[in-house]
Amino acid sequence: MYFLSDIEHKYLLYQLLPTAREVGVSRELRGWSWHQPPLKPYYDNVKLPMYAVCSKYCPTNRDVYLRYVEKILPVPSGKVALGKILHGVVSDCLRAFIQRGSMDFDAWWQTIRWFEIPEKPENLREPSRRVWEFVQKICEARLADVSSRQPYASELDLRVSAVPFLVEHKISGELLGLSGILSLDCYDYLKAIMFDLKVASEPQEWHRLSPVGYALVFESVHEVPVDICCNVYLNVENGKVLVRKDLFFASDELRQWWIEERDRKLEIVADGKDPGKPERSQCKEDCMYFKVCYG
Ligand code: SF4
Repeated sequence: MYFLSDIEHKYLLYQLLPTAREVGVSRELRGWSWHQPPLKPYYDNVKLPMYAVCSKYCPTNRDVYLRYVEKILPVPSGKVALGKILHGVVSDCLRAFIQRGSMDFDAWWQTIRWFEIPEKPENLREPSRRVWEFVQKICEARLADVSSRQPYASELDLRVSAVPFLVEHKISGELLGLSGILSLDCYDYLKAIMFDLKVASEPQEWHRLSPVGYALVFESVHEVPVDICCNVYLNVENGKVLVRKDLFFASDELRQWWIEERDRKLEIVADGKDPGKPERSQCKEDCMYFKVCYG
């Protein structure tokens, strides 16, 4: 899932990394400059999760007001359920492979807490199984490749080299005005790439905000530069697992955009002021607050 194809790897080596080295990132826009403007959060008493900062689903950000000021819980859709379960499939399959070598899909399926998933299990089982098998096969192929070249490495060493991912790494975003219990989808610690997984979504420019936000948080906590980010778009169509990637440089412009979004949303919550609704045509019926806004 987070493995780069040959072409993506060439793009990384010959386009993105040279650009990142030549253009660079301004010192004040590195996460470790969290204690000074523009990264220093203006409001000390408000902390938000990353998705609240990065989602531009609601044109006026009324969803942020409803959730964090009015404390109204969203009504998740079937698409949200698919996203939740496939995130779990990818992260649990990868972690099981890294820690133990593999795990049986049926055994994993028994561990799901269905009261947290707003969908019938039978509607999610087949796509989940397909993605599980897909991830497992790629991991096995990578492991076989690394093993063939490193005859003296231990089993654990081989697995962490073949699948070099920190998955669902828990990290605090408090230095940047975010929640203290963030969980990033994946960080490739050999290539220093921050990944974000999107399920059944069409690529949008604003999707880049989320991995850039995690890159800033990672820099603020671990003080290592993260110049490259990647959105991974996962879909299962007609039984086929489809993966597209958007690999990009976490530039100054994107970092500034993230800071603007964070400041705008922290302000809504700190002031407790309803930003109002946009034109009705701009609201989609699958918005998790549609019933709240339009009864
Ligand atoms: S229904 Fe419209 S205004 Fe209400 S939260 Fe959704 S997108 Fe925003």
